[in-house]
Amino acid sequence: MAKTGACRFCGQQHMIENSEEMTDPQLEECATLHCECDEAKVYQEAAQRREKAKQRVDELFGEGAGNYSQPEAVISTIKGVIDLVCDKRAKNMTITIRTGLKCRIMQMAKDKIKVVREVSDTNSFEQ
Ligand SMILES: [Zn+2]
Repeated sequence: MAKTGACRFCGQQHMIENSEEMTDPQLEECATLHCECDEAKVYQEAAQRREKAKQRVDELFGEGAGNYSQPEAVISTIKGVIDLVCDKRAKNMTITIRTGLKCRIMQMAKDKIKVVREVSDTNSFEQ
């Protein structure tokens, strides 16, 4: 049985599949993500940017990142920073994971989010 949710911006009703277990806020979120009004599209683009930035964190620091792979607690913290930047509560942040390994999260022009892994070879400074 499918429930309906209303777009947060224009109020248009959308049928949401597999929605038996969903709460009202989840229905609204889902409807907004499927609506085609202009405001919903802007919101969808922002949601996609956030999602992509988080995928990038998995690429840079997740299980497949070899030497740079980090525990889940670090990854979720970086993703939390992405939320802060996406929500415009922070402009940019740099997390020093260990000497010579940093993660920089930046808001760029047109609200783009950039996630950078910075590696510096400290050996060259040690004699
Ligand atoms: Zn809408």
